[in-house]
Amino acid sequence: MNIVMIGVQGAGKGTQSKMLSEKLGIPHISTGDIFRDNIKNQTPLGKEARKYIDHGALVPDAVVINMALSRINQPDAQKGYILDGFPRNGVQLAALEFVKPVDRAILLELDDATAIQRLNSRTLCDTCGAIYGANRSPKISDVCDECGSALVERKDDKDAAAIQKRLNLYHQEIDTLVRYYEWKSVLRRILTNGNVDEIFALCLKAIEQ
Ligand code: AMP
Repeated sequence: MNIVMIGVQGAGKGTQSKMLSEKLGIPHISTGDIFRDNIKNQTPLGKEARKYIDHGALVPDAVVINMALSRINQPDAQKGYILDGFPRNGVQLAALEFVKPVDRAILLELDDATAIQRLNSRTLCDTCGAIYGANRSPKISDVCDECGSALVERKDDKDAAAIQKRLNLYHQEIDTLVRYYEWKSVLRRILTNGNVDEIFALCLKAIEQ
């Protein structure tokens, strides 16, 4: 099954995608994570992406579409994918529909004020990508429960102007995705005011229905 997770930054897309990936045995593909890995490893793609990411701007479509489509064409994604952070606009949506159409789009709904609070308290593991925040604290402060590596803040979560810019961009672009997936009858909306396990149960139900 081909699944797309939609939601404002901080809505829990990364956390729920990882849980769904384990349960369904299909890969979690986060374009943001792929860019962060490339930045960490100082690849040419990372150097290009960094110019945009640090300021909360979107990476150009030509770069992100090629990267995302080549990832979903890998053998491990032949049974399906869970995309997180892609598509983000109408051009990306069209490219994805052309190559591997979406079966289910899950919209995790969260208001901006709560999203900003969550981004301010979010940390992630530099090694395995596990995410910590309001709903999940590490057992040992600043150390990942899963692999023992150091937890770090995302650079674009520290900068209030970059956060606001990402929220504005999200609201500008999301309407196209929501209207298209609604028309296609694959959109399911989930309110994210429960705990991680309650939201996960709703995601699974949304995939079945
Ligand atoms: P995320 O982890 O999804 O919040 O993504 C972090 C950053 O990576 C975003 O603020 C963008 O700069 C960039 N990015 C990730 N996915 C996309 C995309 N689909 N289109 C353009 N830029 C993206």
